[in-house]
Amino acid sequence: MADTSVIEISEVAVTGNIRFLQGQIGENVLISSVVKSNAYGHGMKSFVPIAEHAGIDHFSVFSACEARRLMEIKSPGSRIMIMGWMDDDDIEWAVENEVEFFVFDSIRLEKVACMAENTGKPALIHIEMETGMNRTGMINKELKKTVEVILNNRSFFELKGLCTHLAGAESIANHVRVQKQISRFHRLCKWFGKRGLVPEYRHIASSAAAMTYPAARLDMVRIGILQYGYWPSSETFIQFISKKKDKIDPLSRVISWKSRIMTLKKVKRGEFVSYGTIYLAQEDKRIAVIPVGYSHGYSRSLSNQGRVLINGHRVGVIGLVNMNMLIADVTKLPDVKAGDEVVMIGSQEDLTISVASFSEFSNQLNYELLTRLPEGTPRKVVN
Ligand SMILES: *Cc1c(COP(=O)(O)O)cnc(C)c1O
Repeated sequence: MADTSVIEISEVAVTGNIRFLQGQIGENVLISSVVKSNAYGHGMKSFVPIAEHAGIDHFSVFSACEARRLMEIKSPGSRIMIMGWMDDDDIEWAVENEVEFFVFDSIRLEKVACMAENTGKPALIHIEMETGMNRTGMINKELKKTVEVILNNRSFFELKGLCTHLAGAESIANHVRVQKQISRFHRLCKWFGKRGLVPEYRHIASSAAAMTYPAARLDMVRIGILQYGYWPSSETFIQFISKKKDKIDPLSRVISWKSRIMTLKKVKRGEFVSYGTIYLAQEDKRIAVIPVGYSHGYSRSLSNQGRVLINGHRVGVIGLVNMNMLIADVTKLPDVKAGDEVVMIGSQEDLTISVASFSEFSNQLNYELLTRLPEGTPRKVVN
């Protein structure tokens, strides 16, 4: 049975992006490939094997559930790091399976010591420190407690990392705040060092910081959005490209999203199209119905705004985006017929719709639109 749309993942694009990143970051810094939220909508199952083939052997996810899924996909040599949510019940599983995880409060740490004792394996922990983001991360008082717990239970812990997350390295507006976080991080690492606790990896940079602040790369970078071919912000891209002679974007978009025309019909001048009155045909129209709606990840805010590619032309989405369908204006394309390809994201002949142009219409970030592509939509790896 054919699905209403297909998401294609370009192997060549993933490989090219990872090669570019490896070249930028250098061999001495570990790249952890961030594949949370189903690899930013690309599909963990499609993305991870390609990344591994390109040399990635460390992956980051948000939750223990994602880690469990990744465990079934990754090859045995690859490591997993959980950066966020874990239930107390998941700790034992993580320790048993040698999954690395962030610890952001000292109460959790005591439980971890207990579990590690039970399993007879050390817990592979990354201590997340508060440096100014004010989200997760331990404050000073908790860090003191943490050092105590680790030193008293030395054999139950392997200190994989000391880390923090920067509050917006993608914008120069946050420069002072980010610089403060970086200095604070270094002070805290020294403080740990004085107590005999030196981590295997110090890491603070996501995509934006890894590109904009090379000194923030330290021992490991946690790269998400760049691998999928998008810059974290236009500022980050402009900063990078301004130093390059050729002015060519080194990244390629990985995702294409395609469907087909379900049916076509004529609408007389003066009629409204689809629900309500938001689209009035001001001339005789020919419309194409496409079986993709907001339940498939095509945002309702693209009503009367979005663009799709049909027969090598860019055409407008008219009327409301419905739950399962959208309507495109094909009045100027007399040759289109049911079954013709429709591109929501990607290229057709010499035209392209990127998520960026798509999200500018709807004021959504690439991140949000991509991660809203449902897990149920089939992914297909193409060249
Ligand atoms: C999502 C996430 C990243 C990756 O961010 P990108 O901007 O996509 O590179 C890195 N670190 C943490 C803690 C994250 O949650």
